[in-house]
Amino acid sequence: MPVFTPGRRWQPPYLPFKKEPFGRRLLAAVEKSIKGPLFGCRMCGNCMLQETAFICPMECPKGERNGPCGGSTAEHCYVDPTRPCIWYKIYERSFSMGREEHLLEVLPPLDWEKTGTETWGDVIGRVKEIGVGKVAKGLAFQPAKKRYEAWDDIFGPIRQPDWWKGDSEYHKTCCEEPVSELERRLQAGEFVVTSEVAPPVTVATKKLKENINLIKPYVAAINFTDSPSATPRMSSWACSTMAIGEGAEPVMQIAARDRTRVGLQAEVIGAAALGVRNILCLSGDSMKMAPDPKGRMDVIDIDSIQMLWILRKMRDEGKYLDGRKIKFPPQYFLGAAASPFASEPKFQALREHKKVNAGAQFFQTNLVYDADGLEIWLNEIAKRDILDKVFILIGITPIKNYKIARYMNDTVPGVFIPDKLMKRMEAAEAKGNAEEEGVQIALELIEQVRGKQGVNGIHLMAVGWEEIVPRIITEAGLLPPDFVKPEAAEAVPA
Ligand code: SF4
Repeated sequence: MPVFTPGRRWQPPYLPFKKEPFGRRLLAAVEKSIKGPLFGCRMCGNCMLQETAFICPMECPKGERNGPCGGSTAEHCYVDPTRPCIWYKIYERSFSMGREEHLLEVLPPLDWEKTGTETWGDVIGRVKEIGVGKVAKGLAFQPAKKRYEAWDDIFGPIRQPDWWKGDSEYHKTCCEEPVSELERRLQAGEFVVTSEVAPPVTVATKKLKENINLIKPYVAAINFTDSPSATPRMSSWACSTMAIGEGAEPVMQIAARDRTRVGLQAEVIGAAALGVRNILCLSGDSMKMAPDPKGRMDVIDIDSIQMLWILRKMRDEGKYLDGRKIKFPPQYFLGAAASPFASEPKFQALREHKKVNAGAQFFQTNLVYDADGLEIWLNEIAKRDILDKVFILIGITPIKNYKIARYMNDTVPGVFIPDKLMKRMEAAEAKGNAEEEGVQIALELIEQVRGKQGVNGIHLMAVGWEEIVPRIITEAGLLPPDFVKPEAAEAVPA
């Protein structure tokens, strides 16, 4: 195991799809033999080592190209516990080198025509284009800033092809008016509640519609998950369409795990045409969590940040990724997941910052059980000066019993339940009172987080326990301003 890059282990390189001329194959072989041991290069053909502290991110089993997934920890990768999280290492090294702001640049998905081929041919071409003398002058005897600029002159266009042109800037949405009720309420300063309804595992929709109608009066919008734990269920867009039919506003979740760039763009155009206005972009749970037989774990055509970038440009610039104009562009309010307890708060805050730059207008966080820990993460977000650019909804889940608490704490990536709460659940379980204790804990957490800086609402995830949602929202004092009791609503003529 080479010493230069932490956590190095053997992984097969990408292979080119077609046979390259001999000269290029030779160059690729030389590049692989040098960059492999030094940087962990997997020959993705789309090199971005300058922006990732010279550690190849393609060692990530999920193929994340824009930062760690929500399961990243200091100890190990959650997909493959035998290795460290390579993105954690990239962040660690970038911070120690003072290069962390480079991590904000939104990097493109792979150009699969280039995978397995060399990048050095492109570099040589670029040097010729700029002029060898000029490059040499820019790199030799110059202050660090100038040297970086000279490097970037060479590598920038290679890293950021014309069809992508990612940057590190914030881009304001083109929509002047809110495009959804959720966005309208958040912009109006309302402390909103969203909730989640589990999509059915069969084609029967009676229970789904009952749950939608049960929750609808209490929340601003209802999320529909996209095959969580990499286990198939009814699709999020089908559930979202049904919610619209029932008069509720959906948040359609889309997991990058199951999408190609073509599938993603086709799906949002269709969903927007059907009336979906809130879209939540996620990487998606790894196949590691799926029942057997497992699908491929190491290929994701696009990650969640690239999804945001693509969808933002479709809406704001009216363009597909391939540059085609969209005459009637889709309109949506774009969201992303945030993970206050994955890796280190300052690492996560940087990742959330990048999501905001890519297009995230709201965050729904992973489950929060530690209000003090949340505060640390919020402070890191505040330091990045993005609190006025994104709405944050804190993920709260009432725990039904001690076994579930133990399972979530031990196995769900990015979830941390403090010991004192675990003990409370254990004691309540022994007294046969676990459900009530879970509700009380949820109410206490809501009370603790609602006054914190930057918190704009709650995302209540009562997975499979939807009937508890009205009670929690009522007792927490979070009924919407226009709330009409369901019985009274039925009495009102349509
Ligand atoms: S924890 Fe996530 S980001 Fe880190 S290496 Fe594993 S899959 Fe990749």
